[in-house]
Amino acid sequence: MRSRRNFLQAATATALSVPFINWRIAPETANGDAPQKILRVAIMGLGSYGTRVADAMKDCTKAKLVGAISGTPSKLTDWQRKYGIPEKNCYNYENFDAIKDNKDIDAVYIITPNALHHPQTLRVAKAGKHVICEKPMAINAKEGREMVAACKAAGVKLLIGYRLHFEPKTLEIVRMRQSGEMGKALFFQGLSGFRIGDPTQWRLNRKLAGGGAMMDIGIYSVNGARYMIGEDPVWVTAQETKNDPVKFKEGVDETITFQFGFPSGATASCLSTYSMNNLDRFFVNGERGFGELMPATGYGPIQGRTHKGPLTQPHTTHQTLQMDGMADIILNNQQNMVPVDGEEGLKDMIIVDAIYEAAKTGKKVAIKYT
Ligand code: NAD
Repeated sequence: MRSRRNFLQAATATALSVPFINWRIAPETANGDAPQKILRVAIMGLGSYGTRVADAMKDCTKAKLVGAISGTPSKLTDWQRKYGIPEKNCYNYENFDAIKDNKDIDAVYIITPNALHHPQTLRVAKAGKHVICEKPMAINAKEGREMVAACKAAGVKLLIGYRLHFEPKTLEIVRMRQSGEMGKALFFQGLSGFRIGDPTQWRLNRKLAGGGAMMDIGIYSVNGARYMIGEDPVWVTAQETKNDPVKFKEGVDETITFQFGFPSGATASCLSTYSMNNLDRFFVNGERGFGELMPATGYGPIQGRTHKGPLTQPHTTHQTLQMDGMADIILNNQQNMVPVDGEEGLKDMIIVDAIYEAAKTGKKVAIKYT
């Protein structure tokens, strides 16, 4: 094991070899326009998705990875080298509150296990930094509400990592539905699932995951139902199936089918599972047309078609689009076509709470957002 002193020496040496650049303002613009502000982001949680986001951010033009927060010193030194992060922008889970005194970081992107999102968001907000938080934003609506309130009180923005809200084929179907090209939306089907492996991973630990497949993958169908129909559901019914109670312990859902009703009378039928592959499909049917995405939520390319023919929008790495889009939201107060703010994440948590209640009680549960 490396000692802390060795780690600090290595970290400093690495940091010295990285020229420090002030990324607050892009150095120049080709056409002499006012310089574009750059969102300077620290990633918290350097796991598999954190690494994917970091790699994708290399191609961002409005956001820049400048900091890292991890409990593993060797990961921090790796990231300093790999992404040119200065040592002064590296923190661990004990000392990251000190980020409040770091003027070179605007936002922290929380990419840790689900149950940590709530306490970490509260700490980042208290440090006065904008929060980008992975989905699910929390493990229940109570936590989600507290996160929204904490960010509001601290005067920072809270955005949820809904990368598909920036994905061009998805947005084309949303545009067609909004413009009336499909007529009134009548029905949505969402299939979200995969066969999960290693039984010891945090995703199968209720304390860290907050649940099972619903928290991790089913939430895509919950969220997708809302942006495809263009309304928030007002009731839910749900049925849970558990075929492997050893792997999927108490409170860790394996498979849930659920149905929504929307204020207009539209309905949805969805499946969330950790036991089946080849399940990644959204389908919205309207009075005069339809939209289909399959795969709908993977890392892409997303494929799709509508009643007018195949969708041909080009694929760009989702996390690159997302982080540039989030820079516009945070720095330039832009609105996204499909919102990604804390309230949006909170609605999904309110719905997930209702799905669990409906599955447990076998009753039709009314969904209330206030
Ligand atoms: P992961 O296990 O690969 O990474 C989690 C990281 O958190 C690890 O680096 C781990 O060391 C760190 N960590 C900090 N405290 C921990 C603790 N107490 N226990 C366990 N790990 C701890 O997981 P991941 O796949 O990167 O998922 C992280 C988050 O990102 C989850 O909320 C997940 O839902 C979300 N995610 C989102 C997408 C997306 O497409 N938007 C994709 C994958 C994951």
